[in-house]
Amino acid sequence: MQISTIGYWGAYPEAESATSSYLVSKDGFHCLIDCGSGALSRLQRRLNPTQLDAIVLSHYHHDHVADIGPMQYAMLVQNAIHQTNKILPIYGHQEEAEKFANLSHQSTIGIAYDPAHTLILGPLTFQFLKTKHPVPCYAMRISDGEKTIVYTADTSYFEELITFCKGADLLIAECSFYEGMDGSGPGHMTSEECGKLARDAGVGELWLTHLPHFGDTMKLKVEAEQLFNGPIKLAEEDLSYGS
Ligand SMILES: [Zn+2]
Ligand SMILES: [Zn+2]
Repeated sequence: MQISTIGYWGAYPEAESATSSYLVSKDGFHCLIDCGSGALSRLQRRLNPTQLDAIVLSHYHHDHVADIGPMQYAMLVQNAIHQTNKILPIYGHQEEAEKFANLSHQSTIGIAYDPAHTLILGPLTFQFLKTKHPVPCYAMRISDGEKTIVYTADTSYFEELITFCKGADLLIAECSFYEGMDGSGPGHMTSEECGKLARDAGVGELWLTHLPHFGDTMKLKVEAEQLFNGPIKLAEEDLSYGS
C-alpha cells in the first residue's frame, strides 16, 4: 500500500497546492481520502480521475470536499468523451443528510459507511472513529493486511485517539496550531498534541498535516520532536509512504 499527499493545507489552498486529500493505492486499486479545494487539479499530476476506484470522506467541511462537484463534472465529461459509463462511488457518513445526498450525481454515487463497522474497499479495510470537531467527522484506520495507516481527519485531542492509533505504521495527524495554543474550540490539534499522540500510540512515523497559514510551519515539526522520537515529516505535495 502506498499513500501520497495530494493536498495538505487546512481551510484553503495556498498557490499551486490543495487542501486535505491523500491517494491510497494498492495493486492498481486507487482510493482518494478526502477531496479538498485544488485536489482534482493536483491529483491529475498522478492519474486521471477515471482511474479512481473510490473516494472516502471524513466530513463535509469545504477544505475536505470542495472538489467533489468538479470531480462529478470530470467523471461526466470523461464518460462522454470516451463513451463510457463509469460510476465513481463516494463514501461518506450519513449524519448530514443534505450533504450526503450531494455525493450522488450522474456519474458518482454516494454510499454511506457505517462507522461502527469495518468498510472493505478492494484490498483495503477502513475502521472509523468519531472525532471531536464542530461537525460529525471520522478518523480512519486503513490497512492492507500488511501496513496500517491512521488519518486523524479534523479533531481536537482526546484520549480515545491513542487506542485508535495504537501501533500504526504511519500516523497522519492534523496539526493546525502551535505549541501552547488551544485548538479545542475549532476542533483541531497542536504540534504538541500530535507528538504526544504519536508517542503514546507507539506509531512508526508521524506526518503533520492540515497545516496553518500563519507562523513558520517548520516549527510544528521541531515542537512535535520534543515528544516523539520517531521520524516526523511536515506534509507537502507528493510526500509518500510505502510502495
Ligand atoms: Zn479541515
Ligand atoms: Zn473540518
